Amino acid sequence: MDVLYKSTRGDGTLITGSQAVLKGLADDGGLYVPNQIPKLDIALEKLADMNYREIAYAVISKFLTDYTEEELKDCIDHAYDSKFDDEEVAPVKKVGDVHFMELFHGSTIAFKDMALSILPYLLTKAAKKNNLENEIVILTATSGDTGKAALAGFANVPGTKIIVFYPKGGVSKIQELQMITQKGDNTFVVGVNGNFDDAQTGVKKMFNDVALKELLDQANYQFSSANSINIGRLVPQVAYYVWAYSRLVKDGTIKAGEKINFVVPTGNFGNILAGYYSKLMGLPVNKLICASNDNKVLFDFFQTGNYNRNREFILTSSPSMDILISSNLERLIYHITGEKEEENIQFMNQLTQEGEYTITEEEKALLADFFGGYADEKENAACIKKTYEDWDYVTDTHTGVANCVYKKYLEETGDKTPTVIVSTASPYKFARSVMTAIDEQYDRKDDFELIADLNQLSKVAIPKAIQEIMDAEIVHNHISDIDKMEDAVKGFLNI
Ligand SMILES: *Cc1c(COP(=O)(O)O)cnc(C)c1O
Repeated sequence: MDVLYKSTRGDGTLITGSQAVLKGLADDGGLYVPNQIPKLDIALEKLADMNYREIAYAVISKFLTDYTEEELKDCIDHAYDSKFDDEEVAPVKKVGDVHFMELFHGSTIAFKDMALSILPYLLTKAAKKNNLENEIVILTATSGDTGKAALAGFANVPGTKIIVFYPKGGVSKIQELQMITQKGDNTFVVGVNGNFDDAQTGVKKMFNDVALKELLDQANYQFSSANSINIGRLVPQVAYYVWAYSRLVKDGTIKAGEKINFVVPTGNFGNILAGYYSKLMGLPVNKLICASNDNKVLFDFFQTGNYNRNREFILTSSPSMDILISSNLERLIYHITGEKEEENIQFMNQLTQEGEYTITEEEKALLADFFGGYADEKENAACIKKTYEDWDYVTDTHTGVANCVYKKYLEETGDKTPTVIVSTASPYKFARSVMTAIDEQYDRKDDFELIADLNQLSKVAIPKAIQEIMDAEIVHNHISDIDKMEDAVKGFLNI
């Protein structure tokens, strides 16, 4: 059956999956959602015998129905190949009484790789299908992680170019090195003299600039975006929930059909929403435990039904979760309010104008699949330390939040359902925070010393992504003022 896509703020107009991938955001400002959630049509017993790529195909093909089998398999084979340093792609490891699904074995050692490895292929195939003649230019502003994952995904992909702006001085040393050493003739990285908001605003301005659009078109280029609200990032994420389930069947933790919980360290709500879609597809999921750090907007929302961003923005050691507006939550709101565009638009307008909205009691009752929790900085550090001491297993700070919230969940509910903690980054990516959580003495050392120490302590090999930046050549050294970003783009594209 064909799955089509409509906007959460639209008039019900339907477009194909490949068109939704190309568009990213709908013109009305809404997010694309499937007009029906397809069912998994593989017996759960069978899953245990499938590898990651086979499961990815079984899931993605259900959602993106206008791609042929050959096209999708080609995308999947190019995405989930030896870039991943584990042949299982996303190994699921038993640690004590829980399982950790490690989504950080790709090129940038964070979970964004799971979607950004495949998006370039989905996008270039979509361009062909829809007879776009122009070359696609991905334009992105990044606060650190997304930029590198997008660069790695699009580097050397024929028919694309990628331009990334990051705030000079506003990202970590490791994050900056990761970006400015990026190889590939089609990549361009620019440090901006400004903060992330300045860079983001500059990029948005270029997207909306009609004259620039015409200039690009004359040179056979067009802009596209790789940000996390693209359905082409959401759909591939559904696959690893099914994958995790298959591994628990395989290792005998559960019998096919039994339910499991997932704990997800959450920021923009993209990852956990993919988990919700897996449940709607028929995967036996009990609770989706939504873990927040000190920026606990989502925890409060699940408690009260009031989403309120009017609060202090707190910088934490899990920066990818420092978010007050979780954009993908709009999709959940749309689904639970009966897919009524008008009501959704009203909530989202309230969020823009007043910074908050409140769903009804009946709507809140429909959120029972979720459990919201949070962990503060101290709790997180203690949890990282204890997990290392008890199990010789080192998590990063984001996964630490999830681990910590799971402990609270157990205390509160006593729920014995087998549980998978979704592990979103390698501890190497956040070596300083991780090491000082284990022992404050480490704070005196420099970043590369800490990596060596983490290697000794965790006995986990230093990932290629880290080794590479230790001796890689810096190939991007372009710096731009905020009002010169457009010139930088024109220079790179020679227009
Ligand atoms: C992006 C990110 C998250 C948050 O994921 P969302 O889909 O935005 O909820 C959590 N952990 C890490 C390491 C990330 O990079």
